[in-house]
Amino acid sequence: MADPAECTIKVMCRFRPLNSSEVTRGDKYIPKFQGEETVVIGGKPYMFDRVFQSSTTQEQVYNACAQKIVKDVLEGYNGTIFAYGQTSSGKTHTMEGNLHDTDAMGIIPRIVQDIFNYIYSMDENLEFHIKVSMSKTNLSVHEDKNRVPYVKGCTERFVCSPEEVMDTIDEGKSNRHVAVTNMNEHSSRSHSIFLINVKQENTQTEQKLSGKLYLVDLAGSEKVSKTGAEGAVLDEAKNINKSLSSLGNVISALAEGSAYIPYRDSKMTRILQDSLGGNCRTTIVICCSPSSFNEAETKSTLMFGQRAK
Ligand code: ADP
Ligand code: MG
Repeated sequence: MADPAECTIKVMCRFRPLNSSEVTRGDKYIPKFQGEETVVIGGKPYMFDRVFQSSTTQEQVYNACAQKIVKDVLEGYNGTIFAYGQTSSGKTHTMEGNLHDTDAMGIIPRIVQDIFNYIYSMDENLEFHIKVSMSKTNLSVHEDKNRVPYVKGCTERFVCSPEEVMDTIDEGKSNRHVAVTNMNEHSSRSHSIFLINVKQENTQTEQKLSGKLYLVDLAGSEKVSKTGAEGAVLDEAKNINKSLSSLGNVISALAEGSAYIPYRDSKMTRILQDSLGGNCRTTIVICCSPSSFNEAETKSTLMFGQRAK
């Protein structure tokens, strides 16, 4: 059994390689790595639980960031894994990657496979119910009569195989397109929240376990000024920046062991409340561009990660 006392927030940092347009522009590759926990930018060292250099594989990232949390969720704990960083820093690559390619798969498809492999390996007295949902935060959040928040319009279903989970994700992604074109053409920045809920029951002893895991691909953290936004787009960008800073406040309050955790300050932290803090498992993957062009954003991303420690 996992030890509740070892509840910690882990912060990992991943640098992607320079992309072809950065290379063409002549950008410099700025991070310098020291050991497995430190990256130096502009002479300043930043320390994390792990730092992944650009050559790190999807499998290595999964093993370090998610494998342990999956074990805990199967033992009845809740958890959350976030990817944070500016647009194009590798968040979706890290969380999803290529859903249908064994090497290029990101954290989510690997988790799904691990969970089903576990189920297939268990004896017949265990009955599993796996429910997944995929939603974007620009869908509206409501509260039921017990003040439990839920998201209206997200795809939620019981699943029996990894393939069914991938279908749900693909559907969730196409939903986003519907929302963007029909409702608000500007809603391209939003948080993407994938939830996997594992319930198990031993049919002989009637012992029950339930664990859930949120996997969150956060909206790009870049400053509004850089995006050149105006009007409704600007308002939306401000909302996103506000929800990211609320998340930062919640996580740093948890990391400091504060008595008051400001969960109610944003929709997202309200949704995640029962999977953040307490004896929940939390991992944040800070995603960074290695390019000199993005140095200011990279530093601000690294600072966000440091606040969570
Ligand atoms: P974000 O979701 O943060 O906006 P993406 O994950 O879409 O960024 O990444 C932007 C581009 O960079 C994509 O084409 C992606 O495949 C590529 N990329 C990101 N991280 C890596 C990596 N670690 N190795 C190789 N390519 C990567
Ligand atoms: Mg993305």
